[in-house]
Amino acid sequence: MLFDSHCHFTDPGFDDCRDQLAEQIRDLGLTIADIGTDLDTSLAALRAAKQWDFCYAVVGWHPSEVGRLTEELLARTLELCKEPKVVAVGEIGLDYHWEENPPREIQQHWFRRQLQEAVRLGMPVCIHSRDADGDTFQILKEEVFLKRVPDPDSAQGSVGPGSPERTVKASDRTKVLMHCFSGSAELARQYVKLGAKISLGGPVTYKNARHSVNVAEALDIGDLLIETDSPYMAPVPMRGKQNKPTYVQYVAKRIAEIKGITYKEAADATYRNACSFYGIAAEQPRD
Ligand SMILES: [Zn+2]
Repeated sequence: MLFDSHCHFTDPGFDDCRDQLAEQIRDLGLTIADIGTDLDTSLAALRAAKQWDFCYAVVGWHPSEVGRLTEELLARTLELCKEPKVVAVGEIGLDYHWEENPPREIQQHWFRRQLQEAVRLGMPVCIHSRDADGDTFQILKEEVFLKRVPDPDSAQGSVGPGSPERTVKASDRTKVLMHCFSGSAELARQYVKLGAKISLGGPVTYKNARHSVNVAEALDIGDLLIETDSPYMAPVPMRGKQNKPTYVQYVAKRIAEIKGITYKEAADATYRNACSFYGIAAEQPRD
């Protein structure tokens, strides 16, 4: 059992080989989450999820794309959450790496709005954060982890200054997945403490990616998911080639090495973690 928790299966880069790729995915017993980055790619992910049984869709607006986002477009995108194979909102977050990205305030505004809607809909969220560790953590704390809600035991039942409030328990909170996590092991521990899961991708197989290895060492396997983010960031030994969802097996192999467990144990555990995060019934392992 194997789960690629984050890929872009409907990316145009796969247009001329998608059917062949679907065969390989099936042969490997792989389940994938196809992640949207705007309305069009979210719709494409949903179409793929309807066409292929191994595919689930995640819908939302990537921080690089939110310069074009409006409340109306957001409503149309999140309307897709009614579909049974749409399993989360994402990828949403902050990306301060690229200068051509929308200004930080615009990114932060739409990150908060998408989190607020996901909380309202009770959907898990897949978070993209690049060169924005501090702001991402702060916004997630305010909108999800420490969200104050009306105290159901109080007569007023309203939120406002001075009104009775409580902080939501981890088990009642919107589930958070930090996709392709590149922060420190310490930050990963803080996220896990708040109930989030951490997903590692190709970089954990790179020699110079000490952070990712430290994160894999520091966390319990029960808090880890694996991904490819394909067609980007191929893992070793495929680095430099076009990445594809089936290469998630190399990420599982590296995680197994780091944790001192077998490949099968790493694959099964991360598969179960992904099913549980996305709310998908896990199949029994075939021996
Ligand atoms: Zn992605």
